[in-house]
Amino acid sequence: MDNTNEELDILRDKVRGVTTEIMRVVQQRIELARKIGEVKSRLGIDIKDEKVEHEIRMRVMLLAQEIGMSTEFALQLLNILLVESEHVQAQKSSQKVVEKQTHLGIFSKAKQLEATGKKIIHMEVGEPDYSPPTRVGAALAESFRMKLYHYTDTQGIAKLRDAIAAKEGGGICKDHVVVTPGGRFAVFSAITSLLRTGQELIVIEPAWPAYKECADFVGARTKILRTTLEDKWIPDTKQLEGMINSSTKMIVLNYPNNPTGKVLDHKTMENIVLIAKDHGLYLLSDEVYADYVFAEFSSIRKYDYAKSIVVGSFSKRYAMTGFRVGYGIANKDIVSKMARVQAVAITSVAEPMQQAALAALEVDPSENIKLMKKRLDFICRKLKKMSLRCVEPEGAMYAYPELPKGEDIPIVEKLLEKGVALAPGSGFGDSYKRFVRISACQPEKMLEKGLDVMASVIREQM
Ligand code: PMP
Repeated sequence: MDNTNEELDILRDKVRGVTTEIMRVVQQRIELARKIGEVKSRLGIDIKDEKVEHEIRMRVMLLAQEIGMSTEFALQLLNILLVESEHVQAQKSSQKVVEKQTHLGIFSKAKQLEATGKKIIHMEVGEPDYSPPTRVGAALAESFRMKLYHYTDTQGIAKLRDAIAAKEGGGICKDHVVVTPGGRFAVFSAITSLLRTGQELIVIEPAWPAYKECADFVGARTKILRTTLEDKWIPDTKQLEGMINSSTKMIVLNYPNNPTGKVLDHKTMENIVLIAKDHGLYLLSDEVYADYVFAEFSSIRKYDYAKSIVVGSFSKRYAMTGFRVGYGIANKDIVSKMARVQAVAITSVAEPMQQAALAALEVDPSENIKLMKKRLDFICRKLKKMSLRCVEPEGAMYAYPELPKGEDIPIVEKLLEKGVALAPGSGFGDSYKRFVRISACQPEKMLEKGLDVMASVIREQM
């Protein structure tokens, strides 16, 4: 068939012209952003300015309505432009030179010091110091003997998914479960399979940095809802709702929270679910610390919201961090989207590790949880003696106190020189330079030593 048609040729020619024009105008915008970046760098102004962004977003929404463009698409396009502007401005700015220090950076510095023979008390990483249940080791050996070391269903072996579904309860079955290499990969596959470039998700800070990093991976934009110690780390749900626009697709929750140990009350959780429902948003609830709760905790599963995804893990519950087994729970459609990421990336979680996880599920972890609570109470008593402000953790494995003076990085570095590793608060959000995260994954004696060194460094500062 002849593919030429005069009308088609004319239209295609016009499209070429418009595309060329768009590219030229976009390049003009990038050049302007670069110049703005130079000025900001000279004046020492932050790259991100939420007020300016809000204004431009409003303008684009109005324009979209005026010219008959979908506002959702218009905002996605705008987000792509904003991401590129930030990128070129960061290249110009002195701000990028200062690589963000996180607990992992401190951990690797601590390891380097240990290699030179220095003794370090590790209070920076969230890795339980106790051993996994002994039957986990037996299950590993058994899986070798029984030749259970093959590729498995991408979603995970049926027995393990059945057992996870039974543990979680609430009428779910194995089709609602995807077994992942650690909770981290469940977070990654949920964010990368459900969000597209230019769409937005909302993260409540202070937060584990991986949510934003996963969003960056697909060019999605992270909007930050900040919480404060003064408000006991409770998010303002009105403010949350005000941040939503037509390109917003997901809210990320992490309760019990890393790093604050906060657990949200039922009313706040219910409000957040209602907001997500009203706006049709996904709710990604990272509940890897769900076993470590010392207050009343409602899993997002309780609210029976179809667009929720729960992330669980064997890492913290059974001290099985290096086994790399976690899971996602969601409706079948979401699970199959997450499984597709997994099929492309890893085929399946290693079968012996899945067998080990299955054996672990038979073990009651309550002794670990009691131990963690006892240590956190001990840390809180010591912090009180130091007169540091801290919201008592209601879950997880950390305390997140405020420093009385100065910023986290110099103090954390000084402490490291003295053999104590802590996580800088700013690793969980730029606004938290006045905080440090103390992990309770050490025996009480070590915690005591570490906290005494911390007290002396803080005294020197005053
Ligand atoms: N979510 C949070 C909040 C975490 O702190 C961690 C680990 N530090 C994870 C998820 C991931 O854990 P894993 O991949 O070991 O299951």
